[in-house]
Amino acid sequence: MEDLIKRAARDLAESKYAIALTGAGISTESGIPDFRGPKGIWTTNREAEAKAYERYELFLRDPRAYWEEILGLHGVYGNFREQIRKAQPNPGHRALAELETLGILKCVITQNIDGLHKKAGNKKVLEYHGSVNAVRCVSCGSRFAWEEVSLDQLPPRCKCGGLLKDDVVHFKEPIPSDVMEESEKEALKCDLMLICGTSAVVYPFANLPRLARFRSRRLFAGLDMMAPRSNVRIIEVNAEPTPLTHEGISDYLIQGKTGEILPRIVEEVKKGIST
Ligand SMILES: [Zn+2]
Repeated sequence: MEDLIKRAARDLAESKYAIALTGAGISTESGIPDFRGPKGIWTTNREAEAKAYERYELFLRDPRAYWEEILGLHGVYGNFREQIRKAQPNPGHRALAELETLGILKCVITQNIDGLHKKAGNKKVLEYHGSVNAVRCVSCGSRFAWEEVSLDQLPPRCKCGGLLKDDVVHFKEPIPSDVMEESEKEALKCDLMLICGTSAVVYPFANLPRLARFRSRRLFAGLDMMAPRSNVRIIEVNAEPTPLTHEGISDYLIQGKTGEILPRIVEEVKKGIST
């Protein structure tokens, strides 16, 4: 493990354009429950899961009823949002913020909706599944802080006249096109991808490591088996091996908690810089 941490530090120091992909695993250490683990939100409350599947359709059908539901703090969703808003970044988040300050990490693309990367100090964060801290116009794509939005009349509307929705991307809701396009650009541009706390099984997010590896968008035709592999370095930090490990998409896995391993990698990077 020590060797792999040194190797990751060396790879990061030598990279020209490193980015990080993060998932639920980096936030569990901040006390944020995951969805599908043994104590996950869906695992322990099937009814809430069924409701979550209907939520986006409710927005499309009856935006006012949708807003009334998400503003009700007694539901599971309201409690979850409150819990998230109180959460604080952990050493894993702070390590990634430090890598950005050192000029090594250029971007974080996260599946998490908790806003903890920004709280930790990362400036360039693409929130792939949205954020609990923002409200988004479904017509023009503008985002606003909750405090900027008047909720006197439901549903709230954007200056452009479009409907506003909370920024969190629900089941069956398309990923906002701006975030999706930018994420793909970053994946195609990077020469190092550090994947932290995600098993990368949720699509289309799970395409990003494959885009980086094969530099090709035509992944579903089986062409990835023949496409030339790019020389991008792909490093996983995760509690368990993932499909990316098994398929050889990643170069290596450092197995363990992101909150312990990422700070150790950053320590090694800094040692390398100071010598
Ligand atoms: Zn708008």
